[in-house]
Amino acid sequence: DRRVLEEDLRDALARDEIWLAYQPVVNAQTNIVTGFEALMRWNHPERGNISPALFLPIAEEANMIGELGEWALRKACEEAATWPGKMKVAVNVSPIQFAKDTLPKVIKEALSHSGLAPGRLELEITESVFLQDSDDTDAKFQALKDIGVRLALDDFGTGYSSLGSLTAFPFNKIKIDKSFIADLTRNYKSTAIVCTIVTLASGLDMSVTVEGVETREQFERLKALGVNFAQGYLMGLP
Ligand code: C2E
Ligand code: CA
Ligand code: CA
Repeated sequence: DRRVLEEDLRDALARDEIWLAYQPVVNAQTNIVTGFEALMRWNHPERGNISPALFLPIAEEANMIGELGEWALRKACEEAATWPGKMKVAVNVSPIQFAKDTLPKVIKEALSHSGLAPGRLELEITESVFLQDSDDTDAKFQALKDIGVRLALDDFGTGYSSLGSLTAFPFNKIKIDKSFIADLTRNYKSTAIVCTIVTLASGLDMSVTVEGVETREQFERLKALGVNFAQGYLMGLP
C-alpha cells in the first residue's frame, strides 16, 4: 500500500493533485483574523484528500520532501500576496528542508517572485531541527533572520522543550501543541503548563499561539490565561 502511494506521489505535483488548505489564526483578545497557516493536501485520484500526516512521512523516506516543501513555500507566498492588508501566512518547514543549504535561497526566491513582504511570512519549525549540528543551525537561523521572515517554534511541549533553544534561537512565537488544549478544561496540569509557557514567552518577548481550539469553553479559558493567538476548528477548519 505504501509503495503504491509512493509511486503515485511521484507524479502528484505534476498532475496538480497537491494543494494548500488555509486555517485562520485569530488574535485571541480581539477575535480578528491575523493570518492563515498553510496545510498541505493531496487530492488522490482514487482515495480523495489524504492528510499530510500520512503522505509526508512517505515523501520523507522517498526523498521527495524537498520538492514538496519548496512547492508549498512558493505557492503559499504567491497566494498570500493576493490577500488583503497585513494578513500573514505561516508555512511548515520540515527538519529535512531546514537542513538543506538551499533553504534561505528558496525563501528569498519565493518572496521576490511573489512580491510578498518578508514580514508577512512565518516559518513554523519544530524542535527536531536542533538535533543536528549546532554551528550550522546558528548560521541557518541567522540567514533566515536576515531575510526578515518570522520564526515560530511549532509543537512546543511535546519534544525536548529545551529552554536553551528558546534563548539560543531568534523565535518570534511559540506554538503550544494541541495535546495541551484537548484536556485543558478537565486537567489542571494542562492549564498550569499553558499558563507557564505564556509567562515564559512574554518574558522572552515572544508571542504564543495555541492550536487545536475546538470549544468555546477552551477558548474562554485560553483568553483568560493571556494567549495571544488561537487556531482550531472553533475558529475555522483548514
Ligand atoms: P501541524 O503543523 O501541527 O498542523 C496542525 C494540524 O492540526 C493540522 O493537521 C490541522 O489540520 C490540525 N488541526 C487544526 N485545528 C485543529 C483542531 O481544532 N483540532 C484538531 N484535532 N486538529 C486540528 P494536518 O493538516 O493534517 O497536518 C498535519 C501535519 O503535517 C502538520 O502538523 C505539519 O507538521 C505537517 N504539514 C502540513 N503541511 C505541511 C507543509 O506544507 N510542509 C511541511 N513540511 N509539513 C506540513
Ligand atoms: Ca504547524
Ligand atoms: Ca503543531
